[in-house]
Amino acid sequence: MNAPLTRPDLTDPLGPHTDTAQLGVPGTCHVAPDALQGIRRLQTNASRWEGAGWAGFVSSLRERGMEVIESAGTLGAYSTDAGGTAYGMPHGVVIARSARQVSQLVQCAQAHQVPVTARGGGLTTEGESVAYGGVPLNLTGMSRVLHIDLAAMTVRTEAGIFWHSLAEELRRENLDYLSAPLNLTSSVGGTLGVGGIDVNSARLGCSADQAVSLQVVTPTGDIVECSDVQNVDLFQRVILGYGQFGVITEATPRVRPYTPFECITSITRH
Ligand SMILES: Cc1cc2nc3c(=O)[nH]c(=O)nc-3n(C[C@H](O)[C@H](O)[C@H](O)COP(=O)(O)OP(=O)(O)OC[C@H]3O[C@@H](n4cnc5c(N)ncnc54)[C@H](O)[C@@H]3O)c2cc1C
Repeated sequence: MNAPLTRPDLTDPLGPHTDTAQLGVPGTCHVAPDALQGIRRLQTNASRWEGAGWAGFVSSLRERGMEVIESAGTLGAYSTDAGGTAYGMPHGVVIARSARQVSQLVQCAQAHQVPVTARGGGLTTEGESVAYGGVPLNLTGMSRVLHIDLAAMTVRTEAGIFWHSLAEELRRENLDYLSAPLNLTSSVGGTLGVGGIDVNSARLGCSADQAVSLQVVTPTGDIVECSDVQNVDLFQRVILGYGQFGVITEATPRVRPYTPFECITSITRH
């Protein structure tokens, strides 16, 4: 017999997570009552950067031939992510076309102390890809597949590509990626920045596990190749680094042979 359902004790400082009915053991809490005491709550909504140095930053980018979009309509489109719970208005948007442009942008941002927020599909749900002032760096302009290595079973791609576009390219070679989020507009770079899981992850690892090597633009603007054997520290931090340790501009994930779904046409009852 199931344990009787009890209502969560909403007076508990740990809140409804201590709903002991869910644990099936009424009255027992598996979190120590003092576990969260003295731990300061982190501020989840970052304070807005107010814009000192913005004009100089924009001038130096435009001198290098880079476009900065400052129209209200475009800024509004970047004011939140797929979660819609965190809002921040950027000062301007840059759509990068090459690693060199990303490098120039990062160097100018350093010189003028402007915050940069890397953004792929913007499918985070808690504001991780939202710029609270400063510049969202849109990577989706970097979406070319560069090389498929059939011997090594890897693909080299620009990091702003969406997984479904990568899948279309791979399918022509009868290949597929190993694992990627089940939505259409998440980018390779953004997913490596957060992890990424799908139904294959239990067998094949998360999306980030596929990465053999990366090209990364560091916070100082260097364009660096990294992997498990080259610039290892950078590699390990950029993967699942939420864009805080560098911008992924190219990635080499592993691939596998494409296996079509088998259609079940009838189910026999025994
Ligand atoms: C409807 C929906 C369904 C989802 N389904 C799944 C799912 O099945 N599995 C799953 O794992 N997740 C899922 N998610 C979460 C979402 O797919 C992941 O957060 C997504 O993979 C991130 O990709 P993105 O391109 O949207 O990244 P963004 O949201 O743009 O960015 C993610 C983070 O990485 C950083 N970043 C972006 N690009 C780069 C880059 N080139 N280099 C370095 N850092 C970068 C950003 O600053 C941010 O911190 C889902 C989300 C939604 C809204």
